[in-house]
Amino acid sequence: MPLREMNRDQAWLLPPTLDELVPPDHPARFVAEFVDALEREDWRELDVQPDGEPMGAPAYHPRALLSVWLYGFMTNVRSCRKLESACRDQIPYLWLTGWQQPDHNTLWRFYQKHRRSMRGLFKRTVRTAVAMELVDLAVQAVDGTKVYANAALIQTYDARRLQELLDRVKGAIESLEAQNEGGDDGVVARLPEKLAERKALRQRVRQAMKELPSKERPNRYKRPARINLTDKDARLMRTRQGIVPGYNAQAMVSPVAADGGVTGMLVTASDVVDEPNDAARLTMMTRQAEEVSGARVPMTLADAGYFAGRHVAELHQRGQQVVMPDMARPTNHPYHKDQFIYDEGTDSYTCPHGEVLAFTGMKSNKAKKAREYRIVSASVCRECPAFGVCTRNISAGRTLEIGPYDVALRRHRDWMATDEAQQAYRRRLPLIEPLFAIIKNQLGAQRFSLRGIVDVRAEWDMLVTAFNLRTLWRVWRTGAGIRWDPA
Ligand code: SF4
Repeated sequence: MPLREMNRDQAWLLPPTLDELVPPDHPARFVAEFVDALEREDWRELDVQPDGEPMGAPAYHPRALLSVWLYGFMTNVRSCRKLESACRDQIPYLWLTGWQQPDHNTLWRFYQKHRRSMRGLFKRTVRTAVAMELVDLAVQAVDGTKVYANAALIQTYDARRLQELLDRVKGAIESLEAQNEGGDDGVVARLPEKLAERKALRQRVRQAMKELPSKERPNRYKRPARINLTDKDARLMRTRQGIVPGYNAQAMVSPVAADGGVTGMLVTASDVVDEPNDAARLTMMTRQAEEVSGARVPMTLADAGYFAGRHVAELHQRGQQVVMPDMARPTNHPYHKDQFIYDEGTDSYTCPHGEVLAFTGMKSNKAKKAREYRIVSASVCRECPAFGVCTRNISAGRTLEIGPYDVALRRHRDWMATDEAQQAYRRRLPLIEPLFAIIKNQLGAQRFSLRGIVDVRAEWDMLVTAFNLRTLWRVWRTGAGIRWDPA
């Protein structure tokens, strides 16, 4: 086969425009459309002055800078220096900026100043998809994933190791100061670099010691007994790669089904917490999804990590069915309180031998409040063949203590035993798991770039916004116009 002629020095009489080099269905065009559709009010929410400042040197247009960041997040380019470089030599970036080349400082200043208010963009993606009826709001799935903090494991200390480090640093400072005093250089204008570093480290260690729980400062806020000196909000989390300093990133998704065979999912709620445990997150994530999408989704799929009586009861109260494995300790004791049948009308229980236990009042201890039910007459129990197995209390007979969530948990157990619940639960894994795989492997979020929980939340919000934009782009590229006017 003959070779094509190749000439790198070829000059063009009529060179193509940048616009001609970007295909019509390219994601950069979609990002530009998304950004260009932002109204003045949206820019104000982002804390951006869309017309620039009246005085001073001309600045880069915020539309250009925001487009670069969004497209960068969508394509796994999240560092300012890589974005700077992309703005010099990559056609989609050159097209997005109108052939301007903001440097990494400009890009960083824009992101640093506005990233915490960019959550509005995430809401906009969800409301757009909902308004266009692209999302199936009959069901949603929630899960969390552990993401590495921008900090090394070796920088995590407990109180004893912090004290040892402090002693070492103090010794090093004394030694450096002694060397400086003994020198012939006289008074130096500023601290030598090594000494300044050690003093900064001493300050960080002292601050970290203050933030660790102790006898004088008990662990009232469940602060970690260890602290990372690089990112003090990061907690040790168990991952497949072992224990690492990280965060627990949460997401709620609903399925997407659009014309042209586009399927997938859309994130409707997101958060980052420094608790490895998911159990306290179910209601909060459900509420957030409702606030963002404007719809109360009737069915929520969650794994066993979210199991908590309070949340099962709250979701039931809100009229939302939760599909989640029952983690209450199973028992097959024939006279366990679960074997007693509750009658809501009379607020009483009926025992396996048909005797009634009536409500007698509230009982509370340090841990919880419970409703107490007693058999009407102790003699009934004494004469029962189950006496000795069901109860041994001669004077009072059998009593039941029903916690505030027992009814909800019992109802949940019955529901989870149905085929319908089991079938619904099988949808959970394929609905939520691809999200984390895509965010980590395709958007490059194995590790957060920022530090501190507030900034890490902002970064996660940008990641889920980028994920939603990718989903909407797949719809857009089929030729379906996107209506960027969500209420
Ligand atoms: S001991 Fe009392 S509560 Fe238990 S099964 Fe017999 S009658 Fe019912």
